[in-house]
Amino acid sequence: MAVMCTVSNCHYWGPGNKCDASSILIVSDALADEATDRFDAVQAVDAEPTPVDTCMATACKTFVKRDDPAITDDHITKRL
Ligand code: SF4
Repeated sequence: MAVMCTVSNCHYWGPGNKCDASSILIVSDALADEATDRFDAVQAVDAEPTPVDTCMATACKTFVKRDDPAITDDHITKRL
């Protein structure tokens, strides 16, 4: 499944608005606010579900800004 994304300043973003992350984790805004940078798709299998009412209450936990020193903290890799 392709993940399309327009957040072009993300480390994993690619031309054509494609996400090139090996996997991503979408969570509630509340969890995104409180979880550390190390919490990402690798830990998702053990995570508690976080239901929300609207798309505005979701966030991509895998987002990391280009050149951020924390890029490798979550063990997600960039394809290509
Ligand atoms: S990791 Fe998330 S924010 Fe970054 S390109 Fe992929 S979907 Fe977009």
